[in-house]
Order: sequence, then C-alpha cells, then structure tokens
Amino acid sequence: MKVAKFGGTSLADAGQIMKVLEIAKADADRRIIVVSAPGKRSKEDIKVTDLLISCAQAMLKSGKADEELGRVVARFADIQKELGLSVHLLAEIEKDLRERLAGDRTHAALFTDSIKAAGEDYSARFVAAAFTAKGLKAEYVSPRDAGMLLSDEPGNAQVLDEAYPKLAKLRDRQGVMIFPGFFGYTKKGKVVTFPRGGSDITGAILAAAVKADVYENFTDVDSVYAVDPRIIPEAKAIELLTYREMRELSYAGFGVFHDEAVVPAVKAGVPICIKNTNRESAHGTMIVPERPYTAGGVVGISSSDGFCTLFLSKYLMNREIGFGRRLLQILEEEGLSYEHAPSGIDNTSVILRNDQLTDAKEKHVVGRIQKELNADDIEVERGLALIMVVGEGMRYTVGLAAKATHAFAEGGVNIEMMNQGSSEISMMFGVKEVDRKRAVKALYGAFFG
Ligand code: ASP
Repeated sequence: MKVAKFGGTSLADAGQIMKVLEIAKADADRRIIVVSAPGKRSKEDIKVTDLLISCAQAMLKSGKADEELGRVVARFADIQKELGLSVHLLAEIEKDLRERLAGDRTHAALFTDSIKAAGEDYSARFVAAAFTAKGLKAEYVSPRDAGMLLSDEPGNAQVLDEAYPKLAKLRDRQGVMIFPGFFGYTKKGKVVTFPRGGSDITGAILAAAVKADVYENFTDVDSVYAVDPRIIPEAKAIELLTYREMRELSYAGFGVFHDEAVVPAVKAGVPICIKNTNRESAHGTMIVPERPYTAGGVVGISSSDGFCTLFLSKYLMNREIGFGRRLLQILEEEGLSYEHAPSGIDNTSVILRNDQLTDAKEKHVVGRIQKELNADDIEVERGLALIMVVGEGMRYTVGLAAKATHAFAEGGVNIEMMNQGSSEISMMFGVKEVDRKRAVKALYGAFFG
C-alpha cells in the first residue's frame, strides 16, 4: 500500500486534478491520496488557504465576509465547471462555508482553524467526485471518522498517539481513499490545523499508521536540490537522502517538504519519495533511514531568514549556578520557543524565530531578564539568517569547517555565529540576512563547485 500526497499546485485547477487522476490510476497500490487545498495557478494567484484566512479575518473584524467568501466559492466553481461536476457539490460547499463562518467566534484561533481547514476538506470532496466521474471509484474520507486526533493547539497541532491505531484501520477499507490534509480534530471534537504546509504531515501520519511501503509526496519540482535553485539555478538534484539529512535541511528553508513530516515516517521506518506531478518520469528524491556515503560528503546547503538573537552578559556568569535554567524558564513562561543557545564565559545568547518576539514581547522579556537575572547588558539583534551545511559524510571528516569558513571569507561574509559539533551531520552558521545569498553561493562553490 502506498500513500500519495499532492500539494496545492497539483490541485490548482481541473487540468492538474486530471494529472493526479492519471498518477493514481497508474499504480493500484496508491490507495490513500492525501490532498492540499487548491494552490496557485500562476505567480499572481492566491492560494485557497490564504483566501480562507482572509475570510476568517474579515469575519473576526467586522462580522461580515461576503466578498471573501465569494472568492473562495469562485475558485471551486471554476474547478467544478471545468471538471463537469454536479452543481450540487458546489452548493454544498458554499452552504458549509457559510455555516462555518456563522460559527462560534469567541476563540479566534479555533474559529480561524475551522475556516482554514475547509480548503482541504472541499478539495478532497472534489477530487473524490472527479475520480469517480472519470471511472476510478474513490471515496472521500472524513478525518473525524478516521480518527485523526490532534492536540488542542490551533494552527500548530500535533498528532496524538492514540490516533495511530484508529487510522491503521484504513487498511481494511476497499478502493481508493481521498483524505484531506492539514487538519484533524481535538478530543473535544474541535477542528484544528497543523502549521502551514501541514498536509505533508497528514500524509506522513497516514503512511506511518497504515505501514505504507512508501510515502509519495507529489509536488511541483523534479526533486530536492542541493541548494535553493532560486539562489543557484543549476543546483544539483539529490537522489537519495537520509531522514536526518532531510530534517536538518528542511529546518532551515528547504520548503519542498515540511520538517515535522519527517518524524512519523522515521518512527515507522517508511521511506519517503518526493516526486513531480507535472513530470512523473523525473527520478525524484528518496528519503530513507540509511544511505551509503563517502567521507566529507556534503549533501545540501539550506538557509533561512527570520531569526533574532538575544545577547546577555553578566560578569562571573560562568560561576552562577542555575543562570541558564532561569533564563530559559523566563522564555518558557513567556511562551517563547528557543532555537539555539550558543554561550560564552560571561555571556550567553539565545536564538529565536523573529516572528515570535514582537516589539512588545521583547520589551517585556528584556525587562524580566534585567530584573530577575540582574544581567549587566541585554541586547536583541534582528535580521539573522541561519545556514545549514548538511551531510552524513561529514562525521569524523577533518577540515570541513576550515573549508566553509574559507568560503565565507572569500565571499566577504562575516560569520555572526557558528555551531559545529552539536550535530554529527551538520554545521550551522548565523549571518546577517543581507549576506545570506552571497554566503550560500560561496559555500556551494566550495562544496559542489
Ligand atoms: N493548504 C495548507 C497551506 O497552504 C496546507 C498545505 O497545503 O499543506 O498551508
């Protein structure tokens, strides 16, 4: 049994949905098809999920969202017409969306999730109807009935362990199942979504639950590339990656596959295959538990903007027992998740995601640290980018850091932070956002040039 997940661009219009049908038909083992909401048809287009978020925001702000609702319905109407599907289906989704919008708005995040999730839900209903109309019997599966149980964290939910045995029963169903990605239900029956791009996570959970032979992730690129092709157009395609390599690469900017989606597949040992809906003949990238590697082999370089650093100094910090714990406890109490914590003797720093630390939050947190930890100096620096150099072959290899730092020097990039050794298979560098692309080019030249 295979689980095949299709991203938004693969479902953006009728032509794309027909490609998905051909792929499903080509292999009878593709029994579970996980779908995203319709994505962009062109560069200027808007994803259905973003249209839905606008609906929720308008409703929360003014109690009205007719215009926004009209745009969502129009997207599905285009697909319905092009595919020749029943107008009843369109009427049903419009009615459903109106009901969702009229729902309880007291908890803004839960309300937003119930609207956001509609894109995947309608997409799955449309795909099931389209497949059946074209002769491949397919059934829409409700995540509620199937047991996609998630934690009570709107917009950031995680699967509960007890979901797995329930979802495993999908194995006993007949025919092709169309499962909407991106959302599930809390134990109290509320709709909650994964983080953005989370249909990848749904697919991985299902693949793990049914013990699929492979989890196929269909997207709009031929494979995973050694570096972002927007930075290096001729970037080398990667044929084989380990889970660990994929996790580390997708942590910092490898947008092809959601970083959290690796976890369920790892636990169940299900290989992942990234493929292109628009060119099924392309080799794709396989992500597996182990792979042969050569010493020194760097497999990929990823990079991401959007980090900031909280610097702290206090004389004799190194002798103060519990300083680190108390610092991290403040962050915990303030609901801030920290990414890294490189430290010195009388100073320490914590790297956070920029978007978490609003200006008001920064002021408050800095005030607390000042007061509770008696720090001599505290500074927040925005605009940090992280760069990861990743490869199984990096363990025990001498001279890799020298090669990387030499490349930074050649590219004229100042290294703000360096973390080598925490992970056996990667090195991490922090640079100013303005230097990120130049740094990546220099590193690519050094390791792949
Ligand atoms: N539609 C959702 C998003 O745009 C989830 C997904 O496509 O994976 O984030």
